[in-house]
Amino acid sequence: MNAPKPPYPLYRTDTLPLENSFAALPPAHYTALMPTPLPDPYLVCASASTAALIGLDFAETSTESFIEAFTGNRLLPESKPLSAVYSGHQFGVWAGQLGDGRAILLGDVPAPEVEPSGRLELQLKGAGLTPYSRMGDGRAVLRSSIREFLCSEAMAALGIPTTRALCVTGSDQLVMREQAETAAVTTRVAQSFVRFGSFEHWFYNEKHEELKVLADYVIDRFYPWFRASANPYKDLLTEVTLRTAHMIAHWQAVGFMHGVMNTDNMSILGLTLDYGPFGFMEAFNTTHICNHTDQQGRYSYARQPQIGEWNCYALGQALLPLIGDVEETQAALRIYKPAYSEKFEELMHAKLGLKTRQSDDRQLIDGLFGILQDSHVDFTTFFRQLGNLQPGNSDSHEDLRDLFIDRAAFDAWALQYGARLQQENSIDGERKLAMDAVNPKYILRNYLAQIAIEKAQNKDYSEVSKLLQVLEKPFDEQPENEKYAALPPDWANDLEVSCSS
Ligand code: AMP
Ligand code: MG
Repeated sequence: MNAPKPPYPLYRTDTLPLENSFAALPPAHYTALMPTPLPDPYLVCASASTAALIGLDFAETSTESFIEAFTGNRLLPESKPLSAVYSGHQFGVWAGQLGDGRAILLGDVPAPEVEPSGRLELQLKGAGLTPYSRMGDGRAVLRSSIREFLCSEAMAALGIPTTRALCVTGSDQLVMREQAETAAVTTRVAQSFVRFGSFEHWFYNEKHEELKVLADYVIDRFYPWFRASANPYKDLLTEVTLRTAHMIAHWQAVGFMHGVMNTDNMSILGLTLDYGPFGFMEAFNTTHICNHTDQQGRYSYARQPQIGEWNCYALGQALLPLIGDVEETQAALRIYKPAYSEKFEELMHAKLGLKTRQSDDRQLIDGLFGILQDSHVDFTTFFRQLGNLQPGNSDSHEDLRDLFIDRAAFDAWALQYGARLQQENSIDGERKLAMDAVNPKYILRNYLAQIAIEKAQNKDYSEVSKLLQVLEKPFDEQPENEKYAALPPDWANDLEVSCSS
């Protein structure tokens, strides 16, 4: 990502030129409402790179004015706060109306580097009750807010499409979950928070007029190049299908598991959206389920690619009245499988440091996943250390070999991999550099998040900032931060991440 060009002077909290383009949609699409204030808010953490994206002076983030505004206690000039309506399929079942039950959109601000709209929306998550809160309290707890904040920024640094996070603020106000926790607000930042479920909402309510209004809004603002096409709605579906396939290929390649891939959590821009019980793969296991509540494993690691496709079909169904033809709709959706496979192959080749494609590479990659599975090897550590392997020099990969219970299986695979490298005259030093640029050393391990959360729950926010700083440079060696690359300690085995947030 290019460094954003800041406006000069940088914006202050109250000079952010807020508009609310979403509010121009007909009133049926949202409810205008005010955030509910929280008592005595404080800053937990802010992201300098997200502040830079919107040209906000980072020094502002520690001011009372900023903290009050981004907790929802004080309205920014020109802000027209609203919560959007949407529906969705949850765990494969039609769930009917959902909507922003605790998220309030403040509006959008200029972000010259962000294409094509050149603007980013600012949304408060956890800002109080809305008409869509159903049984919820409209709040988010500090724990899940820190997780969402850190993961959004970590994913961006990994080069994976995602919503961003500007800051987390907290308050001592208690919120009941399994136990009493304190409330927090995350300011999320994205070009749009429109979801697959936003379209499903109008389709299942048989309001095709509203469906068209929403699709035209999304096309005009985020996909303007489809305006002139013969069937812009088909193009929209094709593009979203493609972006979703690519996003999920990235997830698989880095070992990210979303945890709740319901259609209301799928972004119309192909961004990773709504971080809840997510996780990064540690001891490799394709059937790993990161969401404790997902007992069937619908959203396990191995199933993410096919669920992504299922979700695109749900979107296709909703867009069918606009596309106007089943065959055309299916044609758009057919792009998913090849787009996913192609992207995944590309990413795996880069992870393995392979510059060429050969016919039996599939077997090499499948073989690798097989031995990682059998020995439950730490996914991130393996790929990072693989860069050190030098064919024909077994000393180079002693540490790597030690990650495997089944060393003979690793030796057999390493022989095959070494031969493959030699076949393309791979140069060790060069390859290591290229591999280190795509295989992260630092990911948001559950236990790292947990340590930062526990400190924050005791009002020490330093570890959240420290972790953010480490995760912003996931591919750098950072010798002083080596311990953040360590394998999870034994106590981490007992960590369970549920939907409760
Ligand atoms: P999720 O799948 O967790 O992203 O959320 C599903 C739905 O539940 C969305 O409509 C959310 O806005 C809503 N929701 C989740 N937690 C709360 C809460 N504490 N208060 C109100 N609504 C919530
Ligand atoms: Mg959601």
